Amino acid sequence: MVKEKKLKINPRCIAGTMQAAVTNRGHLIPCCWLDDKNNLNHPIMKSLLKVSKISEVDDIEQIVFTKEWIEFNKNLKERNFDKILPTCKHQCQVREDRDKIKKEIFFDSKTGKMVWKNIRWKRYY
Ligand code: SF4
Repeated sequence: MVKEKKLKINPRCIAGTMQAAVTNRGHLIPCCWLDDKNNLNHPIMKSLLKVSKISEVDDIEQIVFTKEWIEFNKNLKERNFDKILPTCKHQCQVREDRDKIKKEIFFDSKTGKMVWKNIRWKRYY
């Protein structure tokens, strides 16, 4: 784990490269990476979930402009690491040197044309 002093993050939800998601319980969450038991039970997420039930609002903006969501985004933008979820620090970490992404590109063996590609965040040791 990179020491927080040296940690650099690029929150994809703020950059616009990661979309918000909806849990199977009907809560809007900042992205699908946070949709698991550990994250949903984290105090930071519990605070967000209290104001994120879609069935309780007329418009999604009523959720994303709550003070809880504004605070969540503010902490990401200001890199307040003590108030940022561990998953955010892991998933949206700027990776350097040997700690890079894994790219997979598949080609059709007959035509030689690319048929599929994927980029995964992967830690190399
Ligand atoms: S992991 Fe956190 S910082 Fe990254 S896109 Fe999701 S909510 Fe944003």
